[in-house]
Amino acid sequence: MKHFKKPTAMLIMGPQGSGKGTQAKLLAKKFGFEYVGSGDSLRVVQKTGSFTGKKLLKVMNTGALVPNFALVNVLGNVLEKLKKRGKVKGVILDGWNRMMIESIMVDEALEWYEWDKNVKVILINISRKESYNRLTKRRQCNKCGQLIPWMGEFRNLKKCDKCGGELVVRPDDNLASIKKRLEEYKNQTVPVVNLYKKRGELIVINGEQSIEDVFKDILKVLK
Ligand SMILES: [Zn+2]
Repeated sequence: MKHFKKPTAMLIMGPQGSGKGTQAKLLAKKFGFEYVGSGDSLRVVQKTGSFTGKKLLKVMNTGALVPNFALVNVLGNVLEKLKKRGKVKGVILDGWNRMMIESIMVDEALEWYEWDKNVKVILINISRKESYNRLTKRRQCNKCGQLIPWMGEFRNLKKCDKCGGELVVRPDDNLASIKKRLEEYKNQTVPVVNLYKKRGELIVINGEQSIEDVFKDILKVLK
């Protein structure tokens, strides 16, 4: 495995339920990069009890999309902190470019923070049907927030494998909101995917395999 000479930014994309968060975290661990996920970052803000934190709690519990301004603002704060800390070899962005306007701002943020010299865009691709099945059956730890995908050996988990917390079906995992999110993906995110494809920057990975095989395929392409 070659080393990334320049600071690297990876954008992980994929339909809901594609397991992109899991892959993003595996990549971060493998390369010593910083994992910057929108879900995790928003939950951190929720816990601060700030005006935005309280509002995010309300919005996210209904399954509605967090407004572009609030999302990009949170990303900016996270990247600013990483810049201050220094010694960051790379960042892995997960869940920040759900639509064109966000994608434009994410590109600008990467340029601003000077992580735009080596950008990889990775799409974990699964069909709409697969996405639907995984979404209606996945669970989340009510203690640490880890998502447990409805795939392979994870289906048999009784408790969180990280902290032992109870596993519950996510409050926004109901049919109406899932259908809405699949529509949003098709209407809002697919155009972003197509833009990266047009620019020749898109790496497409078959997401309908085990977590290990998806990860192997990503590493193969990055070699
Ligand atoms: Zn847990």
